[in-house]
Amino acid sequence: MQKRKQIYEGKAKILYETDSPDHLIQYFKDDATAFNAAKKGTIVDKGVMNNKISSRIFQFLEKEGIPTHFEKQLSDREMLVKRVSIVPLEVIVRNVAAGSLCKLLGIAEGRRLACSTLEFCFKEDKLNDPMINEYHIRALELASDADIETIKRYTFKINELMKGFFKALNIDLVDFKLEFGRFKGQIILADEISPDTCRLWEVGTGAKLDKDRFRRDLGNIEEAYQEVLARVSR
Ligand code: UDP
Repeated sequence: MQKRKQIYEGKAKILYETDSPDHLIQYFKDDATAFNAAKKGTIVDKGVMNNKISSRIFQFLEKEGIPTHFEKQLSDREMLVKRVSIVPLEVIVRNVAAGSLCKLLGIAEGRRLACSTLEFCFKEDKLNDPMINEYHIRALELASDADIETIKRYTFKINELMKGFFKALNIDLVDFKLEFGRFKGQIILADEISPDTCRLWEVGTGAKLDKDRFRRDLGNIEEAYQEVLARVSR
């Protein structure tokens, strides 16, 4: 598949057109940002690790019946994906309290939630991706009721699948963020799933194997991503 014009550059990825109108190449960069890009840095070979981790997880989810934009891994940093129109929502699922939920509700990090939660955030950098509810989604026509239902159904199914997937690797899936897109009228999972977009805690030690190492300057960032890659590649 020939790489053509660059159509988008985000914080962690670049999208290129290809010679197929239905496909894009998603290129993973080493750039790391946190706190809505207030903190910037580089994680050596993050792009390579996230491309491989994401490819592995998308393959697993596809096999389990979740439609995704993943077609194939093309190279160390490149993934061939279906060209979707992104639904401007970040869908966040939590199993254990961490990050912004602790601030929002004044609860301790690490508290296991009595049930998994789902939050919608409006993908709008200049507003800091504010949390919104389904009424806002309808009012702004970000997605139809049917799309919202599909997104929620896929999201909870993905949570169950990923919890099991990571548990088998001795990793606790604390929380994660998903993005969906529309492809030929269907809602499918898009973007990436990686230590940039998930909180992953090692069972037993509680070691953080995700971007919190960067956010909080905990050190050994590359090693943590490498450890996740090694485990998902088993
Ligand atoms: N997350 C993400 N992109 C965002 C915001 C959050 O991938 O723009 C992920 C984050 O890595 C974590 C989960 O979503 O796994 C929940 O994040 P939280 O709301 O706690 O955000 P924080 O304020 O900690 O970034």
